[in-house]
Amino acid sequence: MNMQAQRPPLLEVKRNFELKTTLVKASSRLPLPGSKLKGGPDQMEDALEPAKKRTRGLGAVTKIDTSRPRGPVLSTVSQTQGPTAAQKGPKKTGPRGYATVASVLKNPKAAPAAPAAPAQKPGTSAAPMVAGKRPGKRPAWDLKGQLCDLNEELKRYREKTQKLDQENQGLREQLKEAQEQATVLETEQNTLARELASVRTQAEQSQQKLETLCARVLELEECLGTKERLVQELQKEKLELQEEQKALATRLEEQEKRLQASETALSSSEAEVVSLRQKTAAQVTLLAEQGDRLHGLEMERCRLHNQLQELKGNIRVFCRVRPVLAGEPTPSPGFLLFPHGPAGPSDPPTHLSVSWSDDRRATLTGAPAPTTRHDFSFDRVFPPGSKQEEVFEEISMLVQSALDGYPVCIFAYGQTGSGKTFTMEGGPGGDPQLEGLIPRALRHLFSVAQEMGGQGWTYSFVASYVEIYNETVRDLLATGTRKGQGGECEIRRAGPGSEELTVTNARYVPVSCEKEVEALLHLARQNRAVARTAQNERSSRSHSVFQLQISGEHAARGLQYGAPLNLIDLAGSERLDPGLALGPGERDRLRETQAINSSLSTLGLVIMALSNKESHVPYRNSKLTYLLQNSLGGSAKMLMFVNISPLEENVSESLNSLRFASKVNQCVIGTAQVNKK
Ligand code: ADP
Ligand code: MG
Repeated sequence: MNMQAQRPPLLEVKRNFELKTTLVKASSRLPLPGSKLKGGPDQMEDALEPAKKRTRGLGAVTKIDTSRPRGPVLSTVSQTQGPTAAQKGPKKTGPRGYATVASVLKNPKAAPAAPAAPAQKPGTSAAPMVAGKRPGKRPAWDLKGQLCDLNEELKRYREKTQKLDQENQGLREQLKEAQEQATVLETEQNTLARELASVRTQAEQSQQKLETLCARVLELEECLGTKERLVQELQKEKLELQEEQKALATRLEEQEKRLQASETALSSSEAEVVSLRQKTAAQVTLLAEQGDRLHGLEMERCRLHNQLQELKGNIRVFCRVRPVLAGEPTPSPGFLLFPHGPAGPSDPPTHLSVSWSDDRRATLTGAPAPTTRHDFSFDRVFPPGSKQEEVFEEISMLVQSALDGYPVCIFAYGQTGSGKTFTMEGGPGGDPQLEGLIPRALRHLFSVAQEMGGQGWTYSFVASYVEIYNETVRDLLATGTRKGQGGECEIRRAGPGSEELTVTNARYVPVSCEKEVEALLHLARQNRAVARTAQNERSSRSHSVFQLQISGEHAARGLQYGAPLNLIDLAGSERLDPGLALGPGERDRLRETQAINSSLSTLGLVIMALSNKESHVPYRNSKLTYLLQNSLGGSAKMLMFVNISPLEENVSESLNSLRFASKVNQCVIGTAQVNKK
């Protein structure tokens, strides 16, 4: 057998194992024909001896059944077991011989057939034979025949026994082989069992591994699920990003197009810039030339402007009649007339005629009072309806002169309530339409200064505001504890040998815009209001002097100009009626009035002296003329507003004012000189 080389599968091994068991069992049941033989037991015993020994060697399970009756067995054997099968049996032992042996052992019927009946010996009486049956019975007397038959039969049995012995021998050998084979198979089985055990262990390990792997698989599946969700999310995100990318790409494209367009524009712009630079360089040269020309022209303008002002007169007088206020009696028609100029109604009026009838003379004569008419002519007459703006237009030329370096004085002269303060500072309520000359003049100065800045001029303005009451000077811009009280100020020369005058203790405030000027005017009004409580109506009994020191410089050309612009709201010019008896409280008033009258008449005298080119000009006779001495005469330009009340009851004062103004108007002050520093 080649069991080691060709290991059968497990199933076949099992089958072989079963087969071996069957063989062992079969061998234990093996019939022993020899033991059942009748007669010749010794021979049978001899024949069976080796078989017995072998049978004992197989183990306890093997035993010979001797209890069974022998005859029938013999006969059965003889009937069923053919010699062909018995002979073939031993030959078929070998690797594949078990089945044959087993079938033989299991099925005793398959035993070799009984040998054919032996031929009758000659000389013996042959027993009568019935066809297919045992030979017929010999007669009892035929003992010889019977003996012969028995011998024959014995002979046959012996032969048969011999054959069976041989057969038994073969079978025992087969059994031995089978047992050896069984041992091999057992060894093999053990090996296989061990293998099976190791396979089982392996299987268990594999099972464990499998379980671990299953767990791992589950874990991985879970992980996979998570990853898949993540992948889905990422894909979604990717889609969004792709869309975004698309949008960005579109934008990028647009931007690139725009960039290209911009680059094209830039390159053309660069070319343009180059050409513009060249042009600019050319223009800078031209500008310098034109700057020079402009400066020349500006100088010429100054000269011509001044000439014009001189032709108009360095002293000019404007008459302004205020309107009749609410609650005031309407004057009789024709009381004040404003005949237009020779050029017709469009010609601004320069004449004023006052017509009135003297009631006292009418009573005396009993006849209707004759009408008295006085005509006055001035540089300009402003009827009651004239706006602040129109008034300012006329004086803006003088403001320009101040910028050009000529001292300028603008006075408002007239009785109390005739509209001096209205003209100089403006009406109540901060209405811009009613703004007076001071704010308008300053606004004009600031704007012209800014324009001139383009031509290389820089200007600075310093304001002061004082009042002269009863020949004492007080600061209207005082603040803090000095507010309203206004410690007395003195007029002094700015320095030894200096022409310039300054008011000690007064504030000089640099201004550069309208707001600052407004604040100063507001402060002055407050100071006057406080003073008014101390002494009634003081404002109308004092001169208010707003001074603005203008300094202009053209650094490039080394030019410096400086001139004061004075805007003066004079005290009421009314006189005390000499016919009225003076009460004790009115003596002060008289002194006050005399002081006012004195200063106003000094002003008149100074103007006269300047006009007459007298060697002595009485500046020192009043604080006002003393303070204004640098702004009067010589190079200075002067404008006097004579403010007139429209009321008939004021006609006397109006006439006085008009007469005073007329005198001033007749004065001509010498050629003005520009104040070059
Ligand atoms: P003065 O300063 O000469 O005493 P005011 O300027 O105070 O006189 O004027 C007296 C009153 O007349 C004020 O109420 C003022 O508003 C008013 N007034 C003066 N002039 C005009 C004018 N041109 N238009 C309207 N009201 C005027
Ligand atoms: Mg006033």
